[in-house]
Amino acid sequence: MKAGRYYSSVVVEIPDSPSVKNNENEGIGIDLGLKDLAIVSDGKAYKNINKSAKIKKLEKRLRREQRSLSRKLENTKKGESTQKNIQKQKLKVQKLHQRMDNIRTDYINKTVSEIVKTKPSYITVEDLNVTRMMKNKHLSKAVASQKFYEFRVKLEAKCKERGIELRIADRWYPSSKMCHCCGSIKKDLKLSDRVFRCQCGYVENRDLNASLNLRDATTYSIA
Ligand SMILES: [Zn+2]
Repeated sequence: MKAGRYYSSVVVEIPDSPSVKNNENEGIGIDLGLKDLAIVSDGKAYKNINKSAKIKKLEKRLRREQRSLSRKLENTKKGESTQKNIQKQKLKVQKLHQRMDNIRTDYINKTVSEIVKTKPSYITVEDLNVTRMMKNKHLSKAVASQKFYEFRVKLEAKCKERGIELRIADRWYPSSKMCHCCGSIKKDLKLSDRVFRCQCGYVENRDLNASLNLRDATTYSIA
């Protein structure tokens, strides 16, 4: 049955994927978080810039200038010079916001470029539900200042530019709760548990365990 054999060989032929030509290196997983901005499965960690001395100092200054602004606004004398002072103070506050925003954006850009420079064949990230995270009163400020959404948008653009496949893990993929060694699920994992300890004996940094699981995820969509 020559004809039959011919057809079956056609069926199993896998077309070339145009997106993975220049990147021969292993794929990577990235776990995004609040303690660190990003933990990469190759072991690299990118700190949360909002914990840096530079940002903390600016935040302190911003709080001071904002207090001064509200005092000026509460002032009942509404003369022309008061109005001028208020405008000046508003501008000061605005500029501080802008400066901090620029630092955060620069940091996101730097982190994304450094990650794609390692030329992985693919990158897998979580499907972060930023909207849901923002609803958590205790987290919303920290989440907003981490610019996860901007990270994702920039990562997607850079991956397209460099022909790296960007994989978005399924929303329900238990990247944090799964043991990378034996695959069992740790249901009682708390946010405060920084180390992942499994009954199989595996012990690993919590975020690194998550990034390794993301790297090896098999249910994902391609961005
Ligand atoms: Zn295990």
